[in-house]
Amino acid sequence: MSQSGETKIECLKCGTCCIAFDIKEIGKKAGERCRYLSDDKTCAIYEKRPWGCRGYRPDELCVLVSTLTDEQKVQVFRNIYEV
Ligand code: SF4
Ligand code: SF4
Repeated sequence: MSQSGETKIECLKCGTCCIAFDIKEIGKKAGERCRYLSDDKTCAIYEKRPWGCRGYRPDELCVLVSTLTDEQKVQVFRNIYEV
């Protein structure tokens, strides 16, 4: 547990958030795999990633969808975040 009392959820490197959301700064549409998402599901431009990406942090949803297929994860994210 962190000092703030909140449990920190680690990124599971599933890549779902880099597919599900739209990132206007790089012209990425919702549901489209980001061209900067590497095969190992890490961001190829992490240090220079757009502000639109920086606001997103791993949370309980990442864990909840972890047993689903990649396509199902993206669909759940899009349904919940309405993107
Ligand atoms: S959806 Fe969550 S676990 Fe998956 S890459 Fe994004 S932050 Fe990490
Ligand atoms: S720029 Fe990086 S963090 Fe942002 S959606 Fe693409 S791969 Fe993900």
